[in-house]
Amino acid sequence: MELYSLTIHELQDKLRAGEVTAADILASVYQRIDQVEDKVHAYITLMKESAQAQAAAADAAIRNGDIKALTGIPIALKDIYCVQGFTTTCGSRILHNFVPPYDATVVEKLRAAGAIFTGKTNMDEFAMGSSTETSYFGVTCNPWDLTRIPGGSSGGSAAAVAADECIAALGSDTGGSIRQPAALCGVVGLKPTYGRVSRFGLVAFASSLDQIGPFTKDVEDCAILMNVIAGYDPRESTSVNLEVPDYRSFLSRGIKGLRIGIPKEYFIEGIDPEILASVQQAVAVLETAGAKCVDISLPHTEYCLAVYYIVAPAEASSNLARYDGVKYGFRSPEGRDLLDMYKQSRSTGFGDEVKRRIIIGTYVLSSGYYDAYYKKASQVRALIRRDFDEAFQECDIIVTPTSPTAAFRIGEKTDDPMQMYLSDIFTISANMAGIPGISIPCGFTGDGLPIGLQFLAGHFQEGTLIQAAAAYEKTAGMGALIARQKQAKINFS
Ligand code: GLN
Repeated sequence: MELYSLTIHELQDKLRAGEVTAADILASVYQRIDQVEDKVHAYITLMKESAQAQAAAADAAIRNGDIKALTGIPIALKDIYCVQGFTTTCGSRILHNFVPPYDATVVEKLRAAGAIFTGKTNMDEFAMGSSTETSYFGVTCNPWDLTRIPGGSSGGSAAAVAADECIAALGSDTGGSIRQPAALCGVVGLKPTYGRVSRFGLVAFASSLDQIGPFTKDVEDCAILMNVIAGYDPRESTSVNLEVPDYRSFLSRGIKGLRIGIPKEYFIEGIDPEILASVQQAVAVLETAGAKCVDISLPHTEYCLAVYYIVAPAEASSNLARYDGVKYGFRSPEGRDLLDMYKQSRSTGFGDEVKRRIIIGTYVLSSGYYDAYYKKASQVRALIRRDFDEAFQECDIIVTPTSPTAAFRIGEKTDDPMQMYLSDIFTISANMAGIPGISIPCGFTGDGLPIGLQFLAGHFQEGTLIQAAAAYEKTAGMGALIARQKQAKINFS
């Protein structure tokens, strides 16, 4: 077994036993990057030199008996967090040369826990997309089938974990950008509750929806990363001051007696039949493991997508107003005067999808349309949230497919934004309601593409998500299945 193919917890055991060094692990991961990165293109920026220095520091710490939660573990970061001294592009030309002077809180926390940063991963421009195709830096390919997209917007992080170009990664999720690529790449992805993880130093897309979360190879690693990144941050006004439980303590609790809600609105026409069958089989596995299934309804589900594509662009149009080419980022040399410089910089600095969102957002916020669109959407959003509050009276956890299809082909949906937007039909509601959600692998299509299962839970119930996900992973024997499939499919020959 190559070191790069192991999990965080497996590598920790080896580090503690003195069988390997942090330098060995990093060398193995970089050997893998050298081998496959030109095919996958998961990264925008590699940080090899600084990673080597971090590994040397980790080995020195280990020699002194100082082993922290992530000492010596190579982790990739979506290129949306500020990392001091390294470009943070957000997948955009407008930020292609921006070097932040400080670390995001999550980066600071990973650093303090001893993690090593392999690099910054590719993403849809400003996290707007479901396929990583809107990146200024080109598309990332799905390691399971290089002709297909990895999902998005955190496609680089998901692909890097699936291709073993890092041990784990962080992404961000505004409407599904952690869970959908996790599903399409056959890895675990968790979007925490709004407020659970600090977003200080995260480039903002839609501030009432954005959350940061982990991509990992299994559920245990997900718990390990959550233990490090969750928690209150006085520098981030929406982070919540609530005690963080030890997420690892949920791993072996089993699922006996847990009430699993099956929302009828999520098992509808339009889902790929193979996905439906796989998710239904997963529900049967959960029942065998002792869960009680209950039918539930989330009646306002049909409005989620429409509400999202008003609220998210509205917030984005405001957040993205700061990119003007004056103090940092791309500045067009063409401007005749100040106003023209703004126009030229924004016109050439942003890609088409970002411009579409800015235009939609500005429209729905403009006087005369604000009441009809933005205000109405905010009201419907409250109803979506209430649906979940009511559903969680009847169940502890909700199960759905993560994505209506497996990974689609590169270019297949780029000309049809509506089709692209439909990729997030099952993930957006959690952002609307602010609740946590996890996607875990639950099987494969006939073509050997991974399928994702989504669990949703009430606010701050990430522990319950980890509990259910770990129980499912174990009962279904997912670890062994993925290892077998990976050997057959992810060989880059
Ligand atoms: N695909 C959705 C969008 O394009 C969600 C993106 C995200 O979660 N960042 O807005």
